[in-house]
Amino acid sequence: MTKGAQLYEGKAKKVFETDDPELLIVSYKDDATAFNGLKKGTIEGKGVINNRMSNALMKLLERKGIPTHLVEELSDRDTLVKRVSIVPLEVIIRNIAAGSFSKRYGVVEGLEFRSPTIEFSYKNDALGDPLINEYHIVAIGLADQSEIYTIKKMAFAINEELKAFWASCGVILVDFKLEFGRLPDGSIVLADEISPDTCRLWDSKTKEKLDKDRFRRDLGGVEDAYREIMKRLEEHIAEAKK
Ligand code: UDP
Repeated sequence: MTKGAQLYEGKAKKVFETDDPELLIVSYKDDATAFNGLKKGTIEGKGVINNRMSNALMKLLERKGIPTHLVEELSDRDTLVKRVSIVPLEVIIRNIAAGSFSKRYGVVEGLEFRSPTIEFSYKNDALGDPLINEYHIVAIGLADQSEIYTIKKMAFAINEELKAFWASCGVILVDFKLEFGRLPDGSIVLADEISPDTCRLWDSKTKEKLDKDRFRRDLGGVEDAYREIMKRLEEHIAEAKK
């Protein structure tokens, strides 16, 4: 499958057309942004790690019965995916308080929740991805009620699978962001990526941050953290396949 015209360039990925109108190639960059694009930088090797990690986790989820956009990893940075129409929502699942949640509700970072939570943001850069509730989502036609039901069910199921996998790597899955897409037949699949850019991942013992917060908060050791989390994944993914 060869790359055709570039369809879109996002903050961390480029998307290309292919010979097949139903398939696209996603190409992962090393560019990093935070705070709605206000902070910009490069994390060397990130594109390779995010591509491989996202594909490995999506394969794991596929094996557990969760449909994704993944077709085939083509190279270090490029992956063939099903063309979907993205539901313009950021779906955030949390197991432990951190980031914007801690700030909004005045809750100490690290507080373990009694049960996982879900929230939605409207994917709209101009508006700064505002929080949105289910009634508003339906009211302005971003998704219908049955799609929201499916997305919630899939997101919590994904959380259980990923939490268990990361626990086997000695890593706590604090929170993460998912995006979903519609296939031509209207069915919902997991799309976008699952990587240290989109998840908070803490070492189980030391609680050291092994994710993009090292970049957001200028903690240093960003590249090392990405390499470390990828190493943990590679050491344990074979086990997860059994
Ligand atoms: N997240 C993301 N993209 C966004 C916003 C959040 O991938 O545009 C991820 C983030 O990495 C974290 C989770 O979603 O794992 C929850 O992020 P939060 O709402 O706490 O926002 P932040 O503190 O990162 O602004």
